[in-house]
Amino acid sequence: MERRVIEAAEVLARSLGSDPNHTVAAAAMDTNGRIHTAVNVHHFTGGSCAELVALGVAATAQAGPLVAMAAAGDGGRGLISPCGRCRQVMLDLHPDILVAVPTVTGPQMRPIARFFRTHTSFQMRRPSECSASTGATMTRSHAA
Ligand SMILES: [Zn+2]
Repeated sequence: MERRVIEAAEVLARSLGSDPNHTVAAAAMDTNGRIHTAVNVHHFTGGSCAELVALGVAATAQAGPLVAMAAAGDGGRGLISPCGRCRQVMLDLHPDILVAVPTVTGPQMRPIARFFRTHTSFQMRRPSECSASTGATMTRSHAA
């Protein structure tokens, strides 16, 4: 089932053209296995990441709790990890969600809470990729 959500994000990402305002695709799966897809909206005033748009799309469809989320970049960049803001939003709104992250051994699904407890060995998306970025830098979290 996780494979489906990753594939949905990657398929949508591949369909993105050269529009710099829409560079990331996300897919979220609900408890019924339905997949809700969305793209980011970049704007200097603070746009929205694809993950956050996907949360809204899912809510519009009355999806209820979400069980999996994946995001992929345009231009063949493949799976990418969520930014700090998206991690926090997902933790708060869908605390049981699994998030796809790229690793050296391939995609892995990780519980959202783990992003806040463990050292992350994967690359966190730079804030510039996150449309709402105001230039603040993200720091990696280490276990206390
Ligand atoms: Zn984000």
